Amino acid sequence: MSSQQKQQKQQKQSVTVIGLGPMGTAMTEAFLAAGHRVTVWNRTAAKADGLVAKGAERAATVEEALAANELVVLSLTDYDAMYAILGPAVTALRGRVLVNLSSDTPERAREAAAWAARHGAEHLTGGVQVPPSGIGQPESSTFYSGPREVFEAHKETLGVITGADYRGTDPGLAALYYQIMMDIFWTAMTGYLHAVAVAEAHGITAEEFLPYASSTAASLPNFMAFYTPRLDAGQHDGDVDKLAMGTASVDHIVHTTRDAGVDAALPEAVLSLFKRGLDRGFGADSFTSLTRVFKNGG
Ligand code: NDP
Repeated sequence: MSSQQKQQKQQKQSVTVIGLGPMGTAMTEAFLAAGHRVTVWNRTAAKADGLVAKGAERAATVEEALAANELVVLSLTDYDAMYAILGPAVTALRGRVLVNLSSDTPERAREAAAWAARHGAEHLTGGVQVPPSGIGQPESSTFYSGPREVFEAHKETLGVITGADYRGTDPGLAALYYQIMMDIFWTAMTGYLHAVAVAEAHGITAEEFLPYASSTAASLPNFMAFYTPRLDAGQHDGDVDKLAMGTASVDHIVHTTRDAGVDAALPEAVLSLFKRGLDRGFGADSFTSLTRVFKNGG
């Protein structure tokens, strides 16, 4: 290491990373590449070997990892893993800033923030929006929430991992934004896979279908932009998008699916939702009135 690199390392905030799955490993590599000193700990210690070879320092115990740095990044499967690791080491938590980049629910994030506070630590919730390959890219984004001053104090260092999108003080917010985006991702991708299954049942390959699937997906942001002000105003006037018309359309999908010998559980679930909207008297309204079905559980 040149003296210039050594000097750069001393100036940058040092970090502890606990959890060396694909994400924690990529994060550690990004910190090292940006000239930060990194102390690592992982339940399966051997996963740190490659990182130690690249310059990370291995902590022998969780307590040692916590003692090494104020800023502690957690990249674990879920919050249970955090309690399993930090629960026996709570006395070492005082004065630490836990940046929890493990996925879980908003409620669990709020509980964890209160738990950390009881042990004298700050908690920033994070929701990383990219896979490991996106770590270290400033155009990638991670949601953060928790105390604003704690985020402000560490945002530059956290910016090494990805761009930072601070959502507010409620510790649940970062997890919430993450989950509502995953809500769209999983339902949309499940719809896509279902359509592929119906296409394949007719001998149409995924490749042949791709331009059509892509054009449908690409039209969605326009629909969202059109409906956003109406949704915010609670306005569900129906025009060419009446729920009754949508119900007939979904019914055709159910039958097309069944005729193809493909499992129809997915469009049947959608049809059931639309019918509940009809039962509530929303047939002449826009299909956006489904939000009223969701919110009232009706
Ligand atoms: P992994 O599940 O591969 O990493 C898990 C880490 O958690 C490992 O270090 C593992 O330790 C540790 N761990 C799990 N359970 C326990 C336990 N009971 N006690 C101690 N340690 C435990 O996840 P990733 O690295 O892929 O992801 C980390 C987080 O980032 C997850 O919450 C994930 O949802 C989120 N995320 C992941 C993305 C991805 O594409 N991978 C994308 C966006 C978010 P050990 O090595 O010993 O098993």
